[in-house]
Amino acid sequence: MECFRDFIVGVDSIIPLKDGTMVKYINFDNAATTPPFKTVMWFINYFSEYYASIHRGEGYKSRLSTEIYESARDEILNFVGGNKDDTVIFVKNTTEAINKLSYKICSQYPNCVVLTTEMEHHSNLLPWRFRFHVDIVKTDECGRIDLDHLEKKLKNYFGIVKLVAVTYASNVTGYINPVHDIAALCHKYGAKIFVDCAQIAAHKKICMKHEDENKKLDFIAFSAHKMYAPFGVGVLVGNKTILNSGVPDVKGGGTVKVVTDDFVIWEDLPHKEEGGTPNVMGVAALVSAINTLSYIGLDNIEKYENELLKYAASSLKEIEKIKFYCDGVENKVAIIPFNIEGVNHNEVAKILSEEYGIGVRNGCFCAQPYVHKLLKLTKNDIKNIIRDSDITKRPGMVRLSFGLYNTFEEIDRLKYALNNIAKGNN
Ligand code: PMP
Repeated sequence: MECFRDFIVGVDSIIPLKDGTMVKYINFDNAATTPPFKTVMWFINYFSEYYASIHRGEGYKSRLSTEIYESARDEILNFVGGNKDDTVIFVKNTTEAINKLSYKICSQYPNCVVLTTEMEHHSNLLPWRFRFHVDIVKTDECGRIDLDHLEKKLKNYFGIVKLVAVTYASNVTGYINPVHDIAALCHKYGAKIFVDCAQIAAHKKICMKHEDENKKLDFIAFSAHKMYAPFGVGVLVGNKTILNSGVPDVKGGGTVKVVTDDFVIWEDLPHKEEGGTPNVMGVAALVSAINTLSYIGLDNIEKYENELLKYAASSLKEIEKIKFYCDGVENKVAIIPFNIEGVNHNEVAKILSEEYGIGVRNGCFCAQPYVHKLLKLTKNDIKNIIRDSDITKRPGMVRLSFGLYNTFEEIDRLKYALNNIAKGNN
Protein backbone atom coordinates (compact mmCIF):
# COMPACT_ATOMS: atom_id res chain seq x y z
CA MET A 1 0.00 0.00 0.00
CA GLU A 2 1.37 3.42 -0.98
CA CYS A 3 2.43 5.79 1.78
CA PHE A 4 2.77 9.48 1.00
CA ARG A 5 5.79 10.16 3.20
CA ASP A 6 7.85 11.89 0.51
CA PHE A 7 5.38 14.76 0.37
CA ILE A 8 5.98 15.86 3.97
CA VAL A 9 8.64 18.05 5.60
CA GLY A 10 10.46 16.69 8.65
CA VAL A 11 9.37 13.05 8.59
CA ASP A 12 12.91 11.88 9.26
CA SER A 13 13.71 14.32 12.09
CA ILE A 14 16.03 12.89 14.71
CA ILE A 15 15.31 14.00 18.27
CA PRO A 16 16.89 13.32 21.69
CA LEU A 17 15.24 11.07 24.28
CA LYS A 18 15.54 11.81 28.01
CA ASP A 19 18.68 9.68 28.29
CA GLY A 20 20.31 11.44 25.33
CA THR A 21 19.78 8.65 22.78
CA MET A 22 18.89 10.02 19.36
CA VAL A 23 15.85 8.50 17.58
CA LYS A 24 13.61 9.20 14.63
CA TYR A 25 10.59 11.21 15.79
CA ILE A 26 7.14 9.72 15.32
CA ASN A 27 4.20 12.11 15.17
CA PHE A 28 0.83 10.61 16.03
CA ASP A 29 -0.73 13.98 16.84
CA ASN A 30 -2.09 14.94 13.44
CA ALA A 31 -5.53 15.77 14.81
CA ALA A 32 -3.94 18.77 16.52
CA THR A 33 -1.87 20.01 13.57
CA THR A 34 -0.27 18.34 10.57
CA PRO A 35 3.31 19.04 9.42
CA PRO A 36 3.54 20.97 6.13
CA PHE A 37 3.77 19.57 2.63
CA LYS A 38 7.10 20.15 0.88
CA THR A 39 5.17 21.73 -2.01
CA VAL A 40 3.65 24.24 0.41
CA MET A 41 7.01 25.26 1.86
CA TRP A 42 8.49 25.52 -1.64
CA PHE A 43 5.60 27.75 -2.69
CA ILE A 44 5.96 29.99 0.37
CA ASN A 45 9.63 30.43 -0.41
CA TYR A 46 8.90 31.25 -4.05
CA PHE A 47 6.00 33.60 -3.29
CA SER A 48 8.01 35.47 -0.63
CA GLU A 49 9.82 37.19 -3.51
CA TYR A 50 6.55 38.50 -4.94
CA TYR A 51 4.05 39.16 -2.18
CA ALA A 52 2.74 42.61 -1.28
CA SER A 53 -0.32 44.10 0.39
CA ILE A 54 -3.43 43.38 -1.66
CA HIS A 55 -6.47 45.16 -3.14
CA ARG A 56 -5.50 48.81 -3.29
CA GLY A 57 -1.89 48.71 -4.51
CA GLU A 58 -1.27 49.35 -8.22
CA GLY A 59 2.24 47.90 -8.19
CA TYR A 60 2.91 44.66 -10.05
CA LYS A 61 3.44 42.68 -6.82
CA SER A 62 0.22 44.04 -5.28
CA ARG A 63 -1.77 43.10 -8.35
CA LEU A 64 -0.19 39.64 -8.48
CA SER A 65 -0.87 39.06 -4.77
CA THR A 66 -4.46 40.27 -5.16
CA GLU A 67 -4.95 37.87 -8.05
CA ILE A 68 -3.57 34.93 -6.04
CA TYR A 69 -5.65 35.82 -2.97
CA GLU A 70 -8.92 36.39 -4.83
CA SER A 71 -8.60 33.37 -7.13
CA ALA A 72 -8.12 31.20 -4.01
CA ARG A 73 -11.84 31.55 -3.33
CA ASP A 74 -12.80 29.66 -6.51
CA GLU A 75 -10.17 27.00 -5.83
CA ILE A 76 -11.58 26.47 -2.36
CA LEU A 77 -15.17 26.42 -3.57
CA ASN A 78 -14.14 23.81 -6.08
CA PHE A 79 -12.28 21.76 -3.44
CA VAL A 80 -15.34 21.58 -1.17
CA GLY A 81 -17.95 21.19 -3.94
CA GLY A 82 -19.56 24.50 -3.02
CA ASN A 83 -22.88 25.77 -4.33
CA LYS A 84 -23.27 28.74 -6.68
CA ASP A 85 -24.89 30.82 -3.95
CA ASP A 86 -21.97 30.26 -1.54
CA THR A 87 -19.23 32.70 -0.64
CA VAL A 88 -15.74 32.02 0.77
CA ILE A 89 -14.56 34.14 3.71
CA PHE A 90 -10.99 33.92 5.00
CA VAL A 91 -10.47 34.00 8.74
CA LYS A 92 -7.79 32.92 11.20
CA ASN A 93 -9.01 29.39 11.95
CA THR A 94 -12.13 27.25 12.39
CA THR A 95 -12.83 28.79 15.79
CA GLU A 96 -12.98 32.28 14.34
CA ALA A 97 -15.12 31.03 11.43
CA ILE A 98 -17.70 29.57 13.83
CA ASN A 99 -17.74 32.71 15.96
CA LYS A 100 -18.33 34.77 12.82
CA LEU A 101 -21.12 32.47 11.69
CA SER A 102 -22.78 32.67 15.10
CA TYR A 103 -22.74 36.46 14.78
CA LYS A 104 -24.33 36.27 11.31
CA ILE A 105 -26.99 33.76 12.33
CA CYS A 106 -27.78 36.02 15.27
CA SER A 107 -28.24 39.00 12.91
CA GLN A 108 -30.60 37.00 10.71
CA TYR A 109 -32.50 35.01 13.37
CA PRO A 110 -31.92 36.81 16.69
CA ASN A 111 -34.15 34.65 18.89
CA CYS A 112 -33.74 31.27 17.28
CA VAL A 113 -32.76 27.95 18.83
CA VAL A 114 -29.50 26.31 17.75
CA LEU A 115 -28.99 22.57 18.08
CA THR A 116 -25.54 21.14 18.48
CA THR A 117 -24.33 17.75 19.69
CA GLU A 118 -22.60 16.07 22.56
CA MET A 119 -19.57 15.23 20.42
CA GLU A 120 -18.52 18.77 19.52
CA HIS A 121 -15.18 20.47 19.98
CA HIS A 122 -15.54 23.48 22.33
CA SER A 123 -15.21 25.69 19.25
CA ASN A 124 -18.49 24.35 17.89
CA LEU A 125 -20.25 24.66 21.23
CA LEU A 126 -19.26 27.84 23.06
CA PRO A 127 -19.86 30.38 20.26
CA TRP A 128 -23.46 29.11 20.07
CA ARG A 129 -23.99 28.83 23.81
CA PHE A 130 -23.24 32.48 24.46
CA ARG A 131 -25.57 33.84 21.79
CA PHE A 132 -28.55 31.49 21.54
CA HIS A 133 -30.74 29.09 23.35
CA VAL A 134 -28.78 25.90 22.61
CA ASP A 135 -30.02 22.37 22.96
CA ILE A 136 -27.78 19.33 22.72
CA VAL A 137 -28.35 16.22 20.63
CA LYS A 138 -27.20 13.10 22.47
CA THR A 139 -24.74 10.46 21.41
CA ASP A 140 -25.33 6.75 21.97
CA GLU A 141 -23.37 4.37 24.24
CA CYS A 142 -20.49 4.20 21.73
CA GLY A 143 -20.42 7.96 21.26
CA ARG A 144 -22.09 8.14 17.84
CA ILE A 145 -24.78 10.77 17.18
CA ASP A 146 -28.31 9.61 17.92
CA LEU A 147 -30.25 10.64 14.80
CA ASP A 148 -33.62 9.81 16.38
CA HIS A 149 -32.83 12.22 19.17
CA LEU A 150 -31.90 14.87 16.59
CA GLU A 151 -35.22 14.43 14.81
CA LYS A 152 -37.10 14.61 18.10
CA LYS A 153 -35.41 17.92 18.93
CA LEU A 154 -36.07 19.28 15.43
CA LYS A 155 -39.76 18.42 15.84
CA ASN A 156 -39.94 19.92 19.34
CA TYR A 157 -38.43 23.20 18.20
CA PHE A 158 -40.14 23.27 14.80
CA GLY A 159 -40.32 26.87 13.54
CA ILE A 160 -37.73 28.27 15.94
CA VAL A 161 -34.73 26.04 15.35
CA LYS A 162 -32.82 27.74 12.54
CA LEU A 163 -29.45 26.01 12.70
CA VAL A 164 -27.94 22.64 13.53
CA ALA A 165 -24.17 22.82 14.14
CA VAL A 166 -22.46 19.46 13.89
CA THR A 167 -18.98 18.16 13.28
CA TYR A 168 -18.19 16.07 10.18
CA ALA A 169 -15.67 13.99 12.13
CA SER A 170 -14.98 13.90 15.86
CA ASN A 171 -11.49 14.94 16.92
CA VAL A 172 -11.83 12.53 19.88
CA THR A 173 -13.19 9.28 18.45
CA GLY A 174 -12.77 9.95 14.73
CA TYR A 175 -16.42 9.03 14.06
CA ILE A 176 -17.67 10.41 10.76
CA ASN A 177 -21.21 11.74 10.89
CA PRO A 178 -23.66 11.18 8.01
CA VAL A 179 -23.80 14.92 7.37
CA HIS A 180 -25.85 14.76 4.16
CA ASP A 181 -28.55 12.71 5.89
CA ILE A 182 -28.43 15.11 8.82
CA ALA A 183 -28.80 17.99 6.33
CA ALA A 184 -31.94 16.35 4.90
CA LEU A 185 -33.41 16.13 8.41
CA CYS A 186 -32.52 19.76 9.18
CA HIS A 187 -34.07 21.03 5.95
CA LYS A 188 -37.22 18.97 6.49
CA TYR A 189 -37.78 20.93 9.72
CA GLY A 190 -36.79 24.35 8.36
CA ALA A 191 -33.28 24.53 9.83
CA LYS A 192 -29.95 25.09 8.09
CA ILE A 193 -26.86 23.01 8.78
CA PHE A 194 -23.34 24.07 9.67
CA VAL A 195 -20.70 21.34 9.41
CA ASP A 196 -17.40 21.73 11.28
CA CYS A 197 -14.94 20.26 8.78
CA ALA A 198 -11.74 20.91 10.78
CA GLN A 199 -11.15 17.21 11.41
CA ILE A 200 -12.17 15.89 7.99
CA ALA A 201 -10.76 18.29 5.40
CA ALA A 202 -7.39 16.54 4.95
CA HIS A 203 -8.78 13.02 5.26
CA LYS A 204 -11.91 12.67 3.13
CA LYS A 205 -13.47 14.48 0.17
CA ILE A 206 -16.01 17.11 1.19
CA CYS A 207 -18.88 17.89 -1.16
CA MET A 208 -21.24 20.62 0.01
CA LYS A 209 -23.62 20.21 -2.89
CA HIS A 210 -25.67 17.10 -3.46
CA GLU A 211 -27.85 15.80 -6.30
CA ASP A 212 -30.67 15.83 -3.75
CA GLU A 213 -31.02 19.56 -2.98
CA ASN A 214 -32.28 18.72 0.54
CA LYS A 215 -28.95 17.11 1.38
CA LYS A 216 -26.68 20.03 0.58
CA LEU A 217 -24.53 21.54 3.34
CA ASP A 218 -25.32 25.19 4.02
CA PHE A 219 -22.13 26.22 5.86
CA ILE A 220 -18.76 24.65 6.52
CA ALA A 221 -15.47 25.75 8.13
CA PHE A 222 -11.95 24.35 8.35
CA SER A 223 -8.34 25.30 9.26
CA ALA A 224 -5.22 25.25 7.09
CA HIS A 225 -2.95 24.01 9.90
CA LYS A 226 -4.79 20.68 9.92
CA MET A 227 -4.31 20.32 6.15
CA TYR A 228 -0.52 20.30 5.78
CA ALA A 229 -0.35 24.11 5.50
CA PRO A 230 0.84 26.62 8.12
CA PHE A 231 -1.08 28.15 11.02
CA GLY A 232 -3.12 31.33 10.71
CA VAL A 233 -5.76 30.70 8.03
CA GLY A 234 -9.24 29.29 8.26
CA VAL A 235 -12.17 29.33 5.88
CA LEU A 236 -15.88 29.86 6.28
CA VAL A 237 -17.95 28.83 3.25
CA GLY A 238 -21.67 29.24 2.98
CA ASN A 239 -24.84 30.88 1.93
CA LYS A 240 -24.28 34.48 0.77
CA THR A 241 -27.61 35.84 1.92
CA ILE A 242 -27.14 34.84 5.53
CA LEU A 243 -23.46 35.73 5.65
CA ASN A 244 -24.36 39.17 4.29
CA SER A 245 -26.84 39.93 7.04
CA GLY A 246 -26.23 42.67 9.60
CA VAL A 247 -23.02 44.59 10.12
CA PRO A 248 -19.63 42.86 10.12
CA ASP A 249 -18.41 41.45 13.45
CA VAL A 250 -14.94 42.83 12.72
CA LYS A 251 -15.24 46.42 11.50
CA GLY A 252 -12.44 48.49 10.02
CA GLY A 253 -10.18 48.82 6.98
CA GLY A 254 -11.34 46.82 3.97
CA THR A 255 -14.92 46.40 5.18
CA VAL A 256 -16.36 49.69 3.83
CA LYS A 257 -17.11 51.48 0.58
CA VAL A 258 -17.90 54.88 2.09
CA VAL A 259 -17.36 56.38 5.52
CA THR A 260 -18.53 59.87 6.48
CA ASP A 261 -18.98 61.46 9.88
CA ASP A 262 -22.52 60.14 10.06
CA PHE A 263 -22.87 57.03 7.92
CA VAL A 264 -21.13 53.96 6.56
CA ILE A 265 -21.74 51.99 3.39
CA TRP A 266 -20.41 48.49 3.86
CA GLU A 267 -18.41 46.63 1.21
CA ASP A 268 -19.97 43.68 -0.61
CA LEU A 269 -19.22 40.16 0.52
CA PRO A 270 -16.72 38.64 1.10
CA HIS A 271 -14.65 41.81 1.78
CA LYS A 272 -17.23 43.15 4.19
CA GLU A 273 -16.39 40.20 6.45
CA GLU A 274 -12.59 40.34 6.18
CA GLY A 275 -11.63 43.38 8.27
CA GLY A 276 -7.95 44.39 8.27
CA THR A 277 -5.01 43.26 6.18
CA PRO A 278 -5.50 39.56 5.40
CA ASN A 279 -3.05 36.66 5.60
CA VAL A 280 -2.23 36.55 1.89
CA MET A 281 0.70 34.18 2.29
CA GLY A 282 -1.38 31.83 4.43
CA VAL A 283 -4.18 31.72 1.87
CA ALA A 284 -1.72 31.07 -0.97
CA ALA A 285 -0.15 28.27 1.11
CA LEU A 286 -3.57 26.76 1.80
CA VAL A 287 -4.29 26.63 -1.95
CA SER A 288 -0.96 24.94 -2.49
CA ALA A 289 -1.90 22.34 0.17
CA ILE A 290 -5.30 21.80 -1.42
CA ASN A 291 -3.68 21.26 -4.81
CA THR A 292 -1.33 18.69 -3.27
CA LEU A 293 -4.18 16.89 -1.48
CA SER A 294 -6.07 16.78 -4.80
CA TYR A 295 -2.97 15.57 -6.65
CA ILE A 296 -2.51 12.68 -4.20
CA GLY A 297 -6.27 12.13 -4.23
CA LEU A 298 -8.45 12.25 -1.13
CA ASP A 299 -9.85 8.82 -1.95
CA ASN A 300 -6.31 7.39 -1.88
CA ILE A 301 -5.60 9.19 1.39
CA GLU A 302 -8.81 7.92 2.95
CA LYS A 303 -8.03 4.35 1.88
CA TYR A 304 -4.46 4.46 3.17
CA GLU A 305 -5.34 6.02 6.50
CA ASN A 306 -8.13 3.49 7.01
CA GLU A 307 -5.56 0.69 6.52
CA LEU A 308 -3.36 2.33 9.19
CA LEU A 309 -6.36 2.57 11.49
CA LYS A 310 -7.32 -1.09 11.00
CA TYR A 311 -3.74 -2.20 11.57
CA ALA A 312 -3.35 -0.10 14.71
CA ALA A 313 -6.73 -1.14 16.14
CA SER A 314 -6.04 -4.84 15.67
CA SER A 315 -2.44 -4.80 16.84
CA LEU A 316 -2.89 -2.50 19.86
CA LYS A 317 -5.76 -4.51 21.23
CA GLU A 318 -3.23 -7.21 22.13
CA ILE A 319 -1.75 -4.84 24.72
CA GLU A 320 -2.56 -5.75 28.27
CA LYS A 321 -4.88 -3.38 30.16
CA ILE A 322 -5.61 -1.15 27.14
CA LYS A 323 -9.09 0.34 26.95
CA PHE A 324 -10.37 1.97 23.76
CA TYR A 325 -13.05 4.65 23.75
CA CYS A 326 -14.28 4.16 20.20
CA ASP A 327 -16.01 1.40 18.40
CA GLY A 328 -14.94 -0.25 15.11
CA VAL A 329 -12.95 1.13 12.20
CA GLU A 330 -15.72 1.92 9.69
CA ASN A 331 -16.99 5.47 9.11
CA LYS A 332 -14.06 6.82 11.01
CA VAL A 333 -11.05 8.99 10.39
CA ALA A 334 -7.83 7.48 11.73
CA ILE A 335 -8.05 8.42 15.41
CA ILE A 336 -7.85 6.11 18.42
CA PRO A 337 -8.54 7.33 21.98
CA PHE A 338 -7.42 4.99 24.77
CA ASN A 339 -6.12 4.57 28.28
CA ILE A 340 -3.91 2.00 29.93
CA GLU A 341 -5.51 0.84 33.14
CA GLY A 342 -3.53 1.95 36.19
CA VAL A 343 -1.37 4.49 34.33
CA ASN A 344 -2.46 8.13 34.18
CA HIS A 345 -2.92 9.47 30.62
CA ASN A 346 -0.36 12.26 31.33
CA GLU A 347 2.16 9.65 32.32
CA VAL A 348 1.56 7.55 29.19
CA ALA A 349 2.03 10.58 26.92
CA LYS A 350 5.14 11.69 28.82
CA ILE A 351 6.80 8.26 28.69
CA LEU A 352 5.98 7.88 24.98
CA SER A 353 7.64 11.24 24.35
CA GLU A 354 10.66 11.08 26.66
CA GLU A 355 11.57 7.43 26.34
CA TYR A 356 10.40 6.49 22.84
CA GLY A 357 10.29 9.72 20.81
CA ILE A 358 6.59 9.34 20.03
CA GLY A 359 4.36 12.43 20.07
CA VAL A 360 0.70 11.94 21.02
CA ARG A 361 -1.88 14.14 22.73
CA ASN A 362 -3.67 13.49 26.01
CA GLY A 363 -6.39 15.13 28.07
CA CYS A 364 -9.84 16.09 26.83
CA PHE A 365 -8.90 17.49 23.39
CA CYS A 366 -11.10 20.62 23.77
CA ALA A 367 -14.18 18.40 23.93
CA GLN A 368 -14.75 18.01 27.66
CA PRO A 369 -18.48 17.10 27.64
CA TYR A 370 -17.83 14.34 25.10
CA VAL A 371 -14.72 12.96 26.80
CA HIS A 372 -16.44 13.04 30.19
CA LYS A 373 -19.31 11.06 28.72
CA LEU A 374 -17.00 8.49 27.10
CA LEU A 375 -15.17 8.12 30.42
CA LYS A 376 -18.58 7.60 32.07
CA LEU A 377 -17.92 10.32 34.67
CA THR A 378 -20.70 11.15 37.11
CA LYS A 379 -21.79 14.68 38.06
CA ASN A 380 -19.84 14.23 41.27
CA ASP A 381 -16.67 13.25 39.41
CA ILE A 382 -17.03 16.43 37.38
CA LYS A 383 -17.46 18.53 40.54
CA ASN A 384 -14.24 17.02 41.86
CA ILE A 385 -12.44 17.88 38.65
CA ILE A 386 -13.43 21.50 39.12
CA ARG A 387 -12.21 21.49 42.73
CA ASP A 388 -8.88 19.81 41.98
CA SER A 389 -6.30 22.42 41.05
CA ASP A 390 -3.76 19.83 39.87
CA ILE A 391 -4.66 19.55 36.22
CA THR A 392 -2.34 16.60 35.69
CA LYS A 393 -4.67 14.52 37.88
CA ARG A 394 -7.76 15.35 35.86
CA PRO A 395 -9.41 12.51 33.97
CA GLY A 396 -8.63 12.21 30.28
CA MET A 397 -7.40 9.90 27.55
CA VAL A 398 -4.48 9.41 25.21
CA ARG A 399 -5.19 10.08 21.54
CA LEU A 400 -3.43 8.65 18.49
CA SER A 401 -4.22 10.44 15.24
CA PHE A 402 -2.64 9.39 11.97
CA GLY A 403 -1.73 11.33 8.85
CA LEU A 404 -1.07 10.24 5.28
CA TYR A 405 2.69 9.92 5.97
CA ASN A 406 2.54 7.61 9.02
CA THR A 407 3.67 4.02 8.50
CA PHE A 408 2.88 0.52 9.72
CA GLU A 409 6.43 0.30 11.16
CA GLU A 410 5.75 3.36 13.30
CA ILE A 411 2.68 1.61 14.70
CA ASP A 412 4.88 -1.39 15.54
CA ARG A 413 7.23 0.92 17.47
CA LEU A 414 4.25 2.38 19.31
CA LYS A 415 3.00 -1.09 20.19
CA TYR A 416 6.38 -2.02 21.62
CA ALA A 417 6.38 1.15 23.75
CA LEU A 418 2.80 0.71 24.98
CA ASN A 419 3.47 -2.92 25.84
CA ASN A 420 6.37 -1.84 28.04
CA ILE A 421 4.29 0.89 29.68
CA ALA A 422 1.43 -1.55 30.37
CA LYS A 423 3.87 -4.03 31.92
CA GLY A 424 5.58 -1.31 33.98
CA ASN A 425 8.92 -1.88 32.20
CA ASN A 426 9.95 1.75 32.32
N1 PMP B 1 -13.36 21.56 15.46
C1 PMP B 1 -12.69 20.41 15.46
C2 PMP B 1 -13.44 19.12 15.22
C3 PMP B 1 -11.32 20.40 15.68
O1 PMP B 1 -10.66 19.24 15.68
C4 PMP B 1 -10.65 21.63 15.91
C5 PMP B 1 -9.16 21.67 16.17
N2 PMP B 1 -8.67 20.70 16.99
C6 PMP B 1 -11.40 22.80 15.89
C7 PMP B 1 -12.75 22.74 15.66
C8 PMP B 1 -10.76 24.14 16.13
O2 PMP B 1 -9.82 24.41 15.14
P1 PMP B 1 -8.85 25.66 15.30
O3 PMP B 1 -8.10 25.46 16.58
O4 PMP B 1 -7.96 25.59 14.10
O5 PMP B 1 -9.70 26.87 15.34
